[in-house]
Amino acid sequence: MRSLLVRNPIAIGVFWVIVYLVIVLLPLLILLLYPPAANVGRGFWLDFSVALGFIGLAMMAMQFALTARIRLIEASYGIDLILQFHRYTSVVAFLFILVHPIILFIDNPKTLQLLNFFHAPWRARAAVIATLALILMVVTSIGRKRLKIPYEPWCMAHGILATVSVGFGLSHALGVGHYLGLFWERTVWIGIVLITLWLLVYVRLVKPLFMLRKPYLVEAVIPQRGDVWNLVLQPRGHVGIHFQPGQFAWITLQISPFRMREHPFSIVSSAERPERIEFGIKAVGDFTKTIKDVAPGTKAFVDGPYGVFMTDRYEDSAGFVFIAGGIGITPILSMLVTLADRHDERPLHLIYGSKTWGNITYRQELSALTDKLDLTIVYVLRNPPKDWSGETGYIDKQLLQRYLPKRPATRNYFICAVPKMMDQIELALHESGVPVTHVHLEHFNLV
Ligand SMILES: Cc1cc2nc3c(=O)[nH]c(=O)nc-3n(C[C@H](O)[C@H](O)[C@H](O)COP(=O)(O)OP(=O)(O)OC[C@H]3O[C@@H](n4cnc5c(N)ncnc54)[C@H](O)[C@@H]3O)c2cc1C
Repeated sequence: MRSLLVRNPIAIGVFWVIVYLVIVLLPLLILLLYPPAANVGRGFWLDFSVALGFIGLAMMAMQFALTARIRLIEASYGIDLILQFHRYTSVVAFLFILVHPIILFIDNPKTLQLLNFFHAPWRARAAVIATLALILMVVTSIGRKRLKIPYEPWCMAHGILATVSVGFGLSHALGVGHYLGLFWERTVWIGIVLITLWLLVYVRLVKPLFMLRKPYLVEAVIPQRGDVWNLVLQPRGHVGIHFQPGQFAWITLQISPFRMREHPFSIVSSAERPERIEFGIKAVGDFTKTIKDVAPGTKAFVDGPYGVFMTDRYEDSAGFVFIAGGIGITPILSMLVTLADRHDERPLHLIYGSKTWGNITYRQELSALTDKLDLTIVYVLRNPPKDWSGETGYIDKQLLQRYLPKRPATRNYFICAVPKMMDQIELALHESGVPVTHVHLEHFNLV
């Protein structure tokens, strides 16, 4: 079983889905197998509503596992897919939890009295607090950009609201107790409480502690074209992280990792030289605009590597096609320099969209790589100079078909760009005969 899981990523993926379903449905399965003795006459709608509440609550507790960056799980899907799953399952859990009391109120209008916060028993108050926290969490998450809530305060509030919601939800379930009379029913819920608590301790204390024990120092900050800065880090007193080309890490600069103000960046340097890792950072916002002023010798912490956007997963591929837009070149450059260090002889294509010739990030480095690799580069400029004879505009199906290899299905394709461009290119590749399983995407906008 174990060797099957190690060798086969699809089997690992299916394995984690089964684990998730078992944990989420276990409380319900136990209830079905061993219904409470005093359950006779409680009615279908009451039982149904409780079932929805149980599934919703177990799903909410599992959200802590989905966002804890557990490497074993992350390595099967990639963080963007896990966060996508986190978003969708949150909405489903939210609906289950919301429908749970609504059914109760319709089935037995007297239960509406439980909403009277000052006179209701504490277990009902716990449910009200959990639901309000959940509503606030969903509204601020879906509307974060529209409400103009900056990422970091939102992230902190999200964590607090999730803890409040799940904590009070679990107290409500344990407090009602009717369905938790049996040993196994109680054991499952206590297990869920303990897993949730452990995940909180792991994310907030254990992981930062590990990072603290493995610090890095900024060796240099090197300006690049296109308002990008290479942040060069050296491990201090340890060997650094071993990563695969194309992966990324969460960086904390200057402050303690316990403050949890970290940002994700793709590693841009070669995986064959982990003793000195580089990140290419584009100045776009509050944090990234400060990179150029970071002094050599500044302390840094690295949580990683993460991600499944990497050529190493497709050793059997006849060659690779990379499609980058702007700063999306960073993970791709790491894959290219690593392939060059390994003297890889397979045919490689890079289609790279930029605004102008002057701001093509890493143009010199890419040009040098054409001497070491069988690499064809196609630059696509939105604002080309007058004497430009190359490709212009946006990367679309017609442009792709001019450069795709003769048998497109024999290659693997890596796309990293803004979301709209990635969607269009993905569609164009499928329409050009590239199987879905051969197209790999890296999203820089996780949240
Ligand atoms: C897997 C991955 C790899 C990335 N690789 C690179 C790279 O190689 N080079 C590069 O320049 N950028 C990369 N990014 C994007 C980079 O993380 C954001 O540009 C940066 O965090 C923005 O921070 P800011 O404070 O400067 O900008 P802000 O203006 O505060 O934020 C802009 C947007 O970036 C996102 N963001 C902000 N802070 C965080 C955070 N702490 N965690 C996650 N998202 C955040 C939010 O959606 C926010 O709305 C990557 C992102 C991801 C998810």
